[in-house]
Amino acid sequence: MKMYFTDNQSPDTGRRSSVISTLLKIRHDKKKEADIPMRAAYNKVQAKTNVQTKLECHFGVTPSRATPEQMYNAVAMAVQDILSVQRREWTEKQNRSKGKTAYYLCMEFLMGRSLKNHLFNLGVTEVFADCVKDFGFDLDDLFELEPDAGLGNGGLGRLAACFLDAAAGLRYPLYGYSIRYDYGIFRQKVVDGWQTELPDFWLPGGEVWLTPRPDEAVTVGFDGEIKDEWNGNRHSVSYSGQHVVTALPYDMMISGYKSGAVGVLRLWSARSPSFDIGLFNQGDYMHAIEESAMAEVISKVLYPSDNHIEGKSLRLRQQYFLVSASMQDIIRKHMERYGTLNNLTDKVAIHINETHPALCIPELMRILLDEHGYEWDAAWSIVTKTTAYTNHTVMHEALEVWPEDLFQRMLPRIYQIAHEINERLCKHLWIYYPGDWAKIASMAIISYGQIHMANLCIACCHTVNGVSTIHSNIIKTSLFADYARTFPEKFTNVTNGIAHRRWLAESNPQLAGLIRELIGNAYLTDAGQLSKLRAYADDPAVLERLAKIKRANKARMADYIKKAEGITVDPDSIFDVQVKRLHEYKRQLLNALHILHLYNRLKSDPQLDIPPQTFLFGAKAAPGYLMAKYIIRLICSIAKEVDSDPVISQKLKIVFLEDYRVTMAEALMPAAEISEQISLAGTEASGTGNMKLMINGAITIGTLDGANVEMHEAVGDENILIFGLHADEVDQLHARGYSPTAYYHNNADLRAALDRLNGGIGGIRHTEISNSLIGRGSGQADPYMVLADFASYCGIHEEALKRYADPAQWNRMSLLNIASAGIFSADRALTEYAQRIWNLEAMD
Ligand SMILES: *Cc1c(COP(=O)(O)O)cnc(C)c1O
Repeated sequence: MKMYFTDNQSPDTGRRSSVISTLLKIRHDKKKEADIPMRAAYNKVQAKTNVQTKLECHFGVTPSRATPEQMYNAVAMAVQDILSVQRREWTEKQNRSKGKTAYYLCMEFLMGRSLKNHLFNLGVTEVFADCVKDFGFDLDDLFELEPDAGLGNGGLGRLAACFLDAAAGLRYPLYGYSIRYDYGIFRQKVVDGWQTELPDFWLPGGEVWLTPRPDEAVTVGFDGEIKDEWNGNRHSVSYSGQHVVTALPYDMMISGYKSGAVGVLRLWSARSPSFDIGLFNQGDYMHAIEESAMAEVISKVLYPSDNHIEGKSLRLRQQYFLVSASMQDIIRKHMERYGTLNNLTDKVAIHINETHPALCIPELMRILLDEHGYEWDAAWSIVTKTTAYTNHTVMHEALEVWPEDLFQRMLPRIYQIAHEINERLCKHLWIYYPGDWAKIASMAIISYGQIHMANLCIACCHTVNGVSTIHSNIIKTSLFADYARTFPEKFTNVTNGIAHRRWLAESNPQLAGLIRELIGNAYLTDAGQLSKLRAYADDPAVLERLAKIKRANKARMADYIKKAEGITVDPDSIFDVQVKRLHEYKRQLLNALHILHLYNRLKSDPQLDIPPQTFLFGAKAAPGYLMAKYIIRLICSIAKEVDSDPVISQKLKIVFLEDYRVTMAEALMPAAEISEQISLAGTEASGTGNMKLMINGAITIGTLDGANVEMHEAVGDENILIFGLHADEVDQLHARGYSPTAYYHNNADLRAALDRLNGGIGGIRHTEISNSLIGRGSGQADPYMVLADFASYCGIHEEALKRYADPAQWNRMSLLNIASAGIFSADRALTEYAQRIWNLEAMD
């Protein structure tokens, strides 16, 4: 078996390999909780007074007459007040320190809910529970009134949210920047198996967490023409016919767990810069209104594609809007503090999370050149030492390119600068690769009429990182191999992490209670301490309690499903969970085919002795991604077919959960027993859902892909169920010429499952899917090698059932997964970014 992650992999469990020990070496300079001045203990009497005041001042009601919505808002406002005071102190401290600040730019932050998280971080959950109880309300019910802040698609946006939590908890001075979309990720409805999208109008309930800062609004210019041309290092620029949009900041405060720090996520909202008086004066009222509507469209809606570029001009407008507003903000703050930009590199770290905010590079150049009179080389030196870039995908359809003519028309000055960067880059590359035009073109920022955003980032940024060891290696050896050979020192890895307090302590309070009893609460600020749980791996009483907690969480999830979907599931069946965006590379289809295989087996042998299993799916498909929608429809029709069979429905249950989102994930992770992480090896950059499930004690069925590789390493071969082709085998198979039909002909089980697709399931023939797998359509058949991994996948499921039949063994595995999940804390990941990429210090 070939390993990808380390040179000195020990052949047995690999538990002490180099990667892990590097990760463990990162020190968490945590202050002891007692050292941190918690605001003089906040008690119930104060909480009640404050909530009552909010009710009276904002809603004109007494607590006894308040609606639940009013009570939720009043509690949220009272919490905002606590945070505001801490925020002011924290900001002052930061300003006094004159240390470095990091700015994390991302088009997505998938925040989920805030209230419960703030109460937990501030240590006042009990206080507020008692407070609202006295007013006749239940705090958990109030939590349910908060809409998710769904300003992201999936893993990328959730990672950004987890990093904000970690930074605040660790007292790192870090700001997030993004867009205040009026509509977040769409709400998903499934009607007769077909996904439909509804607008997510989250602001009425979510706006309580946003503070507008009109005093810090900036303007962003688009379109028009540049008056003066570029000439060498000297230039002067003026614009004509520009469209100007106002960027109005809304701040969302980010609490840190018992840290006293309060971070800020600044979200820009697009406004018309007051009606064009000129147009009004000409009597062109309608035109003036139209212009303002055009401006505001920019922050109207989040693009709902995950791992796929959306080459729409509005998307490019959004990107530049975010980047220009944020860079102006960063520069203004810096100038206020230091009065010069010469020290920008020492005081500012700018992070480009995925290429979407890559335009911050030419935008920063523009500000330095045009507004602060820097010469090119001095400006370039500042920009390159200040910016770093994280790549999140190797999928080709996700690599961002923009048509040169669109780019030039919309952003004429930024285009000039990008063009100049490209000229100088290509000259530089010529030294390395004289005459090799093909190579230089492939590394260029502008080539064949397209702007390549990843090349812009790699050419400029001082550091480029992937998000798991295998992914970072693929970046270096394949995706950006030429760049990695040219500038090897730029490339590194930081494996993703999750906010373990949210995903374990807050989502799974019973498990948190058990852990506290066994090893104390130090793991909350030092996730590595979870490893102390290993001492209980063979303690039958502990394992029994662990199983009871899982059972209780399953029962709670069953209630949730009953309420949300009207579907009954058996909490004594095995909960097998695959939740993530719907994508062919993530292979929900492999899971579905295996279920069809089980169905076939039960059809031919109704007495077959297998335990009852519930397969839970949750996944949004990009609205224009037809195959993804067909796969949702397939899952729903398998569910229907199975339900209609009185015998088989005793053994199998399939549920497609509508509208998978952060809040649903928080309920689901604690209830999962099997975690499906089954992407084709080499396609998933890291995954973070895998980590959330692991830390809640689910056993992973997974390929050696993304962070699964490091999970395997951390937990040991015997405690994870690995199957399928390895990344190098996938490459070899592609090179040999992959033929899915061979698998079809050679595997009777697979043939039977695929034949069902054509024969009709739940009244529908799924020929689009079967054609995509065995090549009766156009394009490469079965591009993600579902058929190649089918046999191996069925085998690992049999192994899982065998293990499940021995509860002691299963619970032991579960405990060891929890105990090994500490390195996947976002605290660890963020500390790596701070120390190895940003050179950023935590404040004392
Ligand atoms: C964690 C999370 C994801 C990412 O899941 P992966 O399995 O890593 O793709 C997506 N959506 C939501 C709502 C999440 O919480």
